[in-house]
Amino acid sequence: MADGKFATSVTCMDGRIQIPLANWIKEKFSVDYVDAITEPGVDKLVSENLDLESVKHKMNISINAHKSELIVISGHYDCAGNPVSDDEHIDQIKKGVEIISAWNSNVKVIGVWVDDAWNVNPL
Ligand SMILES: [Zn+2]
Repeated sequence: MADGKFATSVTCMDGRIQIPLANWIKEKFSVDYVDAITEPGVDKLVSENLDLESVKHKMNISINAHKSELIVISGHYDCAGNPVSDDEHIDQIKKGVEIISAWNSNVKVIGVWVDDAWNVNPL
């Protein structure tokens, strides 16, 4: 059986942010693997609580099969899927944390902003 601790990243599909996010989550929370649930501009989708059946389904697999206890919702600089201001992204991410927390009472949910240097900043 494969051992190891998992966390879950709910993130934009943008290829520039996957590795910085996974590395930050692994280091900060001492997990071995990061499941990635990707949709373009996912911070907007989650903040509006719209069309999230696929995201929920994937999240449940990560929580139930991989025993993930941490969900990280992110937004990032220069997002083609959600071209709004940085401040608006940050508001959406914070709202997303509230919405995802309401679905899952047994997991920790945090929001992060990936900036123009691809650094990960917890909100
Ligand atoms: Zn994006």
